[in-house]
Amino acid sequence: MSFSPSRQQLRQVFDLLLRDYGKQGWWPAEFPFEVMVGAILTQNTAWSNVETAIFNLKQAGLLSQRAMLQAKPERLAELIRPSGYFNLKTDRLNNLCRFLQDSGGECALLEKTTAELRDALLSVNGIGPETADDMLLYAFERPVFVIDTYTRRIFTRLGMAAGEESYEELRHGFEAGLGPHVRLYNEFHALIVRHAKEVCNTKPHCEQCSLVKICLMGDNCQREISGN
Ligand code: SF4
Repeated sequence: MSFSPSRQQLRQVFDLLLRDYGKQGWWPAEFPFEVMVGAILTQNTAWSNVETAIFNLKQAGLLSQRAMLQAKPERLAELIRPSGYFNLKTDRLNNLCRFLQDSGGECALLEKTTAELRDALLSVNGIGPETADDMLLYAFERPVFVIDTYTRRIFTRLGMAAGEESYEELRHGFEAGLGPHVRLYNEFHALIVRHAKEVCNTKPHCEQCSLVKICLMGDNCQREISGN
């Protein structure tokens, strides 16, 4: 299954979403390590829960690699409890911290090529493609397009994807279509998430959607409403 949208198609979606929602200012974090922690904590939970967990870590003085490695796992788990799966995520945070320590820290990782850094992140237990790509794009500012269920949903409904593409096929499709632009990827992913949460929900609100004229599913909905 191939996903090969043109630059024009992708830019049209981006421009319409940007016009509707404006710049999203992602990632909501003060420093790269906070982005990496957030990328793990947001696995299978809403961002509002992550915000509470991160607030707890900050209040406890544990939002640093060194402090986290020195903290007792039970203490860490209690602080991140609001993000769900807190024991699993405690292990994953520790895996991330050990990886950073063994790699010589974030600065040493900056020396790696994007492909090397991606492979290194993917070697950490608990970091899959979406989490690694969140880190690459938002913490390391590398031109890697993040794919999530929202991206798959919207682009399948638009008719640009078949819905059965692999993660990598979708990622390569966006990257080939758009070219390597960190700021564009940053904003586009954030807009996709916003649109999926507010309009192209599980039950889509096509009547409120500015993509309706270029959307396969939206077009079908309009036909049903108009009786054509
Ligand atoms: S027209 Fe409907 S299905 Fe298409 S992107 Fe908009 S909300 Fe989603």
